[in-house]
Order: sequence, then structure tokens, then C-alpha cells
Amino acid sequence: ASFLTLGKKYASDGEEEDKEDDKVDLAENSLLNKLIRKSLVESNHHVEILQRDPSSPLFSVKTFEELHLKKELLQGIYEMGFNRPSKIQETALPMMLADPSQNLIAQSQSGTGKTAAFVLAMLSRVNGAEKFPQCLCLAPTYELAVQTGQVVEKMGKLCVDIRVAYAVRGNRIPRGTKIEEQIIIGTPGTVLDWCFKLKLLDAKKISVFVLDEADVMIDTQGFLDQSLRIQRTLPQDCQMLLFSATFEDAVLRFAEQIIPDPNIIKLRREEMTLTNIRQYYFLCETKQDKYKALCNIYGSITVGQAIIFCQTRRNAKWLSQELSQDGHKVSVLSGELTVEQRAAVIQRFRDGKEKVLVTTNVCARGIDVKQVTIVVNFKLPTNQLLCPDFETYLHRIGRTGRFGKKGIAFNMVERHNLPLLRSIEEHFKTKIKQLDPDDMDEIE
Ligand code: ADP
Repeated sequence: ASFLTLGKKYASDGEEEDKEDDKVDLAENSLLNKLIRKSLVESNHHVEILQRDPSSPLFSVKTFEELHLKKELLQGIYEMGFNRPSKIQETALPMMLADPSQNLIAQSQSGTGKTAAFVLAMLSRVNGAEKFPQCLCLAPTYELAVQTGQVVEKMGKLCVDIRVAYAVRGNRIPRGTKIEEQIIIGTPGTVLDWCFKLKLLDAKKISVFVLDEADVMIDTQGFLDQSLRIQRTLPQDCQMLLFSATFEDAVLRFAEQIIPDPNIIKLRREEMTLTNIRQYYFLCETKQDKYKALCNIYGSITVGQAIIFCQTRRNAKWLSQELSQDGHKVSVLSGELTVEQRAAVIQRFRDGKEKVLVTTNVCARGIDVKQVTIVVNFKLPTNQLLCPDFETYLHRIGRTGRFGKKGIAFNMVERHNLPLLRSIEEHFKTKIKQLDPDDMDEIE
């Protein structure tokens, strides 16, 4: 209850007119992840496997050769620069390519090689000589469908007979057209139209069905039911594959509803920790106070790259202007940018073209903060109920155990928000030390 009263105060400081970028759009976030990802995400954990038939032997491969792929497909993989299967691919690929086919539910964080795995499976199973749709892949948005399609085009570059069609809104194809592309990638609504309204697609002839980004899918109104309707029209012997970056109960329930008799593979993500982070706070009432404290940080320690989190777009804009006027090279990341623009900003920051990144909540996730030495919370993260948002706090300043480089986090806290700070300390069983903005010798 005390947080609710806190909330009123918080809302009266004039920022409610301003736009808060706090609702993270899962599909946008996923697209952003794809756009800024250049290589595999490693994991130290073991792959957990739940076999449909525990008595059948379990294969895992260390090379792509062991999969006995068509040579133009193997060549395509090598031309993409893949040398060996990723951790999840080691077990997922032999399962997906086994005969008779097996169904699979696979979960691992984004960047671990899921898309490459199912694209490989589709390309391997498709018969290029047959000119009708054989693989159907569902994606949550047009943009994500296109991303997957581009992987198909790249990996299948040398499989000249194999082609892709996109069942997405805006791709108008006259009723009764005979679709010759073997791989269809689309969003659930349009795929349903293609199957039933326009009769472009004969679901009975699909032999591989992929449901990608299941967690994003169930977050979108209607997609769960539409996906189930599509799945019900597939033939009995169709291979069904489902992928998800996260595995909350709702995702697992949906996965088990839509994929009969599955093998299940999971790869846990590296945990975020606060152990290598020194955490401090300044008591500041106004944004001018906060800015002054920030300047003092720059005056006292050597800052490599910094990310500063603001609660609102307007504050982000104000802060970046102040910093620019003081000679800093700043970039701003906030919700009014398109996903492509955000990806470009992140790329420039990664390349070191700017040393300071000012951002709102929307972009808290997905940025790799390995090279960032300081993180500043211009305001403590709170949720809609104005309670402390522990998860966001952890994601902003935490590091994965393996890349346990040291970092420093600074929090700018108004006196009336001190209880938020205390509950963050309590939650993480950690100490956030107060600093005097005029005497920074306290920083060790
Ligand atoms: P996910 O679907 O889990 O997000 P992706 O399949 O998109 O992961 O792979 C993430 C990145 O790693 C992509 O840039 C992809 O090209 C690359 N990648 C995937 N598999 C391999 C591999 N076996 N070797 C090297 N790079 C890979």
C-alpha cells in the first residue's frame, strides 16, 4: 500500500503528460534482437532433453557432415560461416532430421541458433522438384517472417529449386493461383486466409510445420487460436516443430497443446547477477540535481561507455541535449524510433562512435552491455503499480555470470523514493551505498 501512495506523488511531478516507454513489445524486441545479432550466444549450461521415447538412442552431432545433408545445403551452411553446430543444434538437428520424423519443442534464448536449425530442417526435407508448398512456418509479424525468409534464402542459396513465399498481409495473391514455392512463411491470420478463404494452400500436403517465437505468438490476441486451427488441418504424419525464447507455463501449455508427442529440449540462459557490480545512489530531488551528480561522476572517474536510463522520452531528450552541450557524444534510443533505427543506434554505440547512450525503458533489454562500464538510473525502474521493478533493475545493470566484468551502477533517487531503493537492496540482498555528489572520493 505504501507504494501506491508513493505512486501518487510520483505521478504528480509533471511527467504523466509525457510518454513512458514502458510496455515492451515482444515482437519488436525480438526483431531488434535479430537485427543487432551478429553471432551466436553461448551458454555454459547443458541442454536438457526430454525424449518422447526415452528408450530410443539419443544422437548428438559435433559436425554438420554427420547429418548427411544434400551437398548444396552443406555448402550453403559453410558459406554462411557456420563451422559447427551450436549447442542446441547438436541435439536438435539429429532429432529434426530423423526418419520417421519426430516432433520437437525447443526453448533457448534468442541468438542460440534455433532459426538456423529449423531452416536447415525445412531445406533438408523439401523436395525441390515438386512445385507445391511442403513446409509451413508461422511467425508473429511480417517483419519476423521476412527475417526468417532471409535465412532460408541465404542457407538455401545453392538449392536453386527451392523457393519461399510470404503469407503476410499486403502480399495479395488472386484466389486460385497455384503456389509453386515449397516453403511458406507467414503470420497466422493470412495463412488461414490462404488455406480457407483463398484456397491457395493445401494444408493436407504440408510435411513440416514450424511455429516460431511461440512466446511472442501467444502474447498476440487471436494468434493462439488461429495457430491451433491451422495445426488441426495438417496431415497426421506432418512433422511439427515449435520454438520459443522463453518458457513460462502458458507457453509450455500452448506448446504441448499444439505439438503432439514431442521431444523437448531446453537450454537455460546464463543468469544475470549483481555480484560484479558496485552500486551507488545519490539523493537528488530535481533533474538538475541529477544532472549535476552525473557531471560529477564524469569529473571523478574514467568512464568508458555509459548507458543512462530515463523513465520518459522527454527526459531522455532533455538529458541528451544537456550532455551534448557539455561536449559529450550522445545517442538516444527511445520508443519513437523504428526498430531499424534502434538497431542502427545500438550498432553505432557498439562500434564506439558515441560514448553515452541515453535510453528509455523500451530498450532496456537486448543491449549487450559488455563494454559498458557505467550504468545510470536517472530514475529507479518501477512497474505500473509504481512498485520497484526488480527484473528491469537487474537487466539494466546486471551482467551474465560468465562475462563477469566489473561495472558500476549509479541510481539517482528522490527522497520520497528511498523506500524503492531499500526494497531493491532487500530483494537482491545487496548494498547500495550513498554518495555525496560533491565528494566522490567515496567511490572505491
Ligand atoms: P535464434 O533463432 O535462437 O535467435 P539464430 O538461428 O538466429 O538464433 O542464430 C543467431 C546467430 O548465430 C545468427 O546470426 C546466425 O546466423 C548465427 N548462427 C546460427 N547457427 C550458427 C552456427 N552453427 N555457427 C555459427 N553461427 C551460427
